[in-house]
Amino acid sequence: MEKKVLITGVAGFLGSHLAKELLNEGNFVIGLDNFSTGKRSNLQGLLDNNRFFFKELDVCSSYLLDDPDVQHVQEIYHLASPASPKYYQAFPFETIQVNTIGTKNMLELAKRHQAKMVFTSTSEAYGDPEVHPQPETYRGNVNTWGPRACYDEAKRLGEVFCYEYFKRYNTKVKVARIFNTYSAGLANDDGRVISNFVTQALKGEDITVYGDGTQTRSFCYVSDTIHGLKLLMEKDGANGEIMNIGNPVEYSIIELANLVKKLTSSTSSITFHPLPEDDPKVRRPSIIKAKIILGWAPSITLTEGLQKTIQEYKVKLNLIN
Ligand code: NAD
Ligand code: UDP
Repeated sequence: MEKKVLITGVAGFLGSHLAKELLNEGNFVIGLDNFSTGKRSNLQGLLDNNRFFFKELDVCSSYLLDDPDVQHVQEIYHLASPASPKYYQAFPFETIQVNTIGTKNMLELAKRHQAKMVFTSTSEAYGDPEVHPQPETYRGNVNTWGPRACYDEAKRLGEVFCYEYFKRYNTKVKVARIFNTYSAGLANDDGRVISNFVTQALKGEDITVYGDGTQTRSFCYVSDTIHGLKLLMEKDGANGEIMNIGNPVEYSIIELANLVKKLTSSTSSITFHPLPEDDPKVRRPSIIKAKIILGWAPSITLTEGLQKTIQEYKVKLNLIN
C-alpha cells in the first residue's frame, strides 16, 4: 500500500536517490530542502511526478510543524545536513542547527502523527576510533574542539533527541549511522574522496591524497545504503535502535587512489597533501546488528561500484555521450 513519506534533504545525494525509489514503488513523497548543499538538478525526474511535492524551506523552522502540506505523514527520513567535510566546515552553525533543532522538529512531527522516523547519523559519531571495527556499542573518540566537531557532536546530540523521544513518547524512531557512501550522484565538486579521485582521474588531473594515504575507509555503494535505510524504516523491531549502515570491506586511501587510476586507465599522478586536522585514521563498520535485525548486508563491491560511478561521471563530464 502506498505511503505518505517526508524526506528532508531531498535535493542532496542520498535524498534524491531515496525519493526516486520511493516514487517508483508508488508512494507519495514530500521533499524538503533549502539548497544549502543540494542541487536543483537533483530534482530533475522528480518534479514532473505528480506524487512528488517539493517545498523549499529550512527544516529548523518551527512553522513547519503546522504546515498543512506535511500533516499526516507516515514516514519521515530526516537526511537534511551538510555531509561533506568541505561543506560542514564552511557552514558549522547551520550544521549544528539542522542536526539538533531540525531533528527535534522532525521528531515532534513524528510524535504528532505517530509516524515512523529514520534519522541519518554518521560513522563520525565514533570520531577517530580506538575500537576497530566499530560496533554500535562503541562510544567513540570525538574531539569537541576541532573542525569536525560541528558535524560529529551535532549528530551525536541529534541521536540524544531521538533517544529521548523514543523513551518518553515511544516515538517510532531509528538511527542509521551511515558509513562513507558513494556513486556518481555525488556532485563532482562535493569534495568527498571518491568524487574527487574519479573526477581528477578522468580529467587527467593530479589525484590528491591527503596525508600518506594509510588512513582507511569502508565504501558503500548508494543502492546498498538506500536499501538498508528502507529496511530500517520498515522494521518495527528496530524502533529505538542505532544501526550501522555501511560496507565492512576496508581500503586505505592510497589503495583507493590506485584502484581508481587503474579502472579509469588514467595517466594522472598521485600527489600527497597535508592531512586535515582530526581526520580519522581508520573506519570500518561492524554490521552484525543490521544483519540480524534487518537481514541486510551490502552486495556491491568497491570495484563494481567504482565501475558504475566512472561510467556515469564520464557522461556527466561530457567525456562520452
Ligand atoms: P548532501 O549534502 O548531498 O545532502 C544534504 C541535503 O540537505 C542537501 O540537499 C542540503 O541542501 C539539505 N539541507 C541541509 N541543511 C538543510 C536545512 N536546514 N533545511 C533543509 N534542507 C537542508 O548529503 P548526503 O550525502 O545526501 O547526506 C544525507 C544525510 O546522510 C546527511 O544527514 C548526512 O550527514 C548523512 N550521511 C551521509 C553519508 C554519506 O556518505 N553520503 C555518510 C554519513 C552520514
Ligand atoms: N581524502 C583524500 N583526498 C581527497 C579527499 C579526501 O585523501 O581529495 C581523504 C580524507 O582525508 C579522508 C578520506 O579521504 O581520510 C575520506 O574523506 P571524505 O571527505 O570522503 O570523508 P570522511 O570520511 O573524511 O568524512
